[in-house]
Amino acid sequence: MKSAKMLAGLLSVALAVSACATGESTSDAVLYEGAQLIIGDGGAVLDNSAFLVEDGRFTAVGAAGSIEAPEGSSHVDLAGKTVMPAIVNAHAHLASPRPDRTEELQHWAYYGTGAVMSLGLDDGNVGFEMRSEDIPNGARSRSAGRGITAPEEGRSEVPFWITSEAEARAAVQELATEEVDFVKIWVDDRGGRYEKLTPELYGPVIDEAHKLGLRVTAHVFTLEDAKGLLRAGIDAFAHGIRDQDVDDELVQLWTDRPEVVLVPNLPNPGVALDLSWLSGTIPAERLREMQAAQQDRPATQESFGIQARNLDRLNSAGIKIAFGTDGSSPWTSHQEMEDMVRSGMTPAEVIVAATSASAELMEFNAGSVAAGKLADFVVLDANPIDDITNTRRISDVYIRGQRVERESLRERWTGSE
Ligand SMILES: [Zn+2]
Repeated sequence: MKSAKMLAGLLSVALAVSACATGESTSDAVLYEGAQLIIGDGGAVLDNSAFLVEDGRFTAVGAAGSIEAPEGSSHVDLAGKTVMPAIVNAHAHLASPRPDRTEELQHWAYYGTGAVMSLGLDDGNVGFEMRSEDIPNGARSRSAGRGITAPEEGRSEVPFWITSEAEARAAVQELATEEVDFVKIWVDDRGGRYEKLTPELYGPVIDEAHKLGLRVTAHVFTLEDAKGLLRAGIDAFAHGIRDQDVDDELVQLWTDRPEVVLVPNLPNPGVALDLSWLSGTIPAERLREMQAAQQDRPATQESFGIQARNLDRLNSAGIKIAFGTDGSSPWTSHQEMEDMVRSGMTPAEVIVAATSASAELMEFNAGSVAAGKLADFVVLDANPIDDITNTRRISDVYIRGQRVERESLRERWTGSE
């Protein structure tokens, strides 16, 4: 495994060198040929593809042999591999200190994610500053800054705690000056422990946001709140409905507003998972503890079942589905994709949700392998359309056309190769 990887690395260096030596290369273009290509937009898989990357973007995509590479280009043979766009995560939480956030973005990139939106718990300015930065070997980030909620003593004090319409509008105005990528609200009484945002409070948040050109995404728990939020003009949901199965009224309210996006963010499925695929990427002792904690949990299965059925029904009704993990463990994107398939979506649908649909939600110019898009892509050893867990079989990750140095990241995190 290790020697194959090293060989591949050496090979791509050799290819780049040979292009330079023979062609007086001034081009940074790379032509990738031979992979099965999942475009990410739901279209057919190209069986024997070619795509050209120049200056961090895809500039041509088609059948192998059909793309004329500029003089001085290098060439990478991807025969036997599958390529898909890098994952786009529309709901995660990144650390606020710069060194920690940098490390996390590298960790996300390692597992195939090209962009992450940090949804409402960012303290200070680092989250905003880092949006425009290219982190070496790291995913890109977006930020909702501080989200908005009712007072929740004992929980995070980062969000705005609002109790009046005036405070609601003032919070949104402050977020607008920071040019947040989304306004995040929480509508949840946390099992009866808090007063949650009422329509009299989240209504003005949504109204003020729309006046200022911002969109609002909601953490939601109950069916009734989801209906209220749809009536109030919400733009996206950062979670599925969790208290009960959705009804016809909800489906009708939602299909009347087809632009509203669902980020399902499924909970733990409550079944013992085999985590051996993480071996060698996190410290062995930690993995042993994680594996030991795996067991079947009937109560968890039941709450997973509610959200799984709701996702399946909304997906079948044609609701736009995007992708998020909520948590900060970067490998969970692969578990989330498996859980979405467990719920009844096809692997092809899940890949669209996790790439182009999420990128569209984040207004981020990636998420598909198409000319003009940022060249964020993953090279896989097997095709995830056949089995969604094949997204874990990562051979290489490229962000903005740059190969992520996964070997050195792995060494840093595990203390060994
Ligand atoms: Zn969250």
